[in-house]
Amino acid sequence: MKALIIVDVQNDFMPDGSLAVPDGDAIVPVINRISGKFDLVVATQDWHPPEHKSFASNHKGRQPFETIDLNGISQTLWPDHCVQGTPGADFHPGLDTRPVEAIFRKGINPEIDSYSGFYDNQHLKSTGLAGYLREKDVTEVYGCGLAGDICVYDTLNDALKCGFPTILIADAARALDEKNYETAQKDLLKNNGRIVFSTDIV
Ligand SMILES: [Zn+2]
Repeated sequence: MKALIIVDVQNDFMPDGSLAVPDGDAIVPVINRISGKFDLVVATQDWHPPEHKSFASNHKGRQPFETIDLNGISQTLWPDHCVQGTPGADFHPGLDTRPVEAIFRKGINPEIDSYSGFYDNQHLKSTGLAGYLREKDVTEVYGCGLAGDICVYDTLNDALKCGFPTILIADAARALDEKNYETAQKDLLKNNGRIVFSTDIV
């Protein structure tokens, strides 16, 4: 039972979005081409209230991409993005969502960010994704989406920690920072993850 997790393919992460991932829209046709080949497809959606503490705008005198301590952990401050119910939080209009059986929303608690589709950044609260995949008898978790070095990486890392054989589809993800993405890929491989290309999905 092979599952695909489509991570945060949302307008605000596209090249014209508020937290643009370079070339982010290039993955949409790639995902559309392969999603039908999986037994199960789920998606995650970054879904912040306007007062979310990961937004620089909610910290006086702070700028996006600065780092602060937020409730005991290091937090990068972002431009406002993926605000609940706004067009920026919608999936890219070209993404074929028909195969998506369930959507897991994250980043709802204003006090803590949530990069992974499984847990918040302090592993305090589960989204229920691991239990969902287990109940569906998933034996392999494939991941794609945005951003490769942040939310895709954290999602796949948590999939590995939850015990799922885990595979990154390299050309179906794009990174905010290429150097961080290289480190992230090495880390996934070190933790027994695998990396494939979309052409390997049959
Ligand atoms: Zn976010």
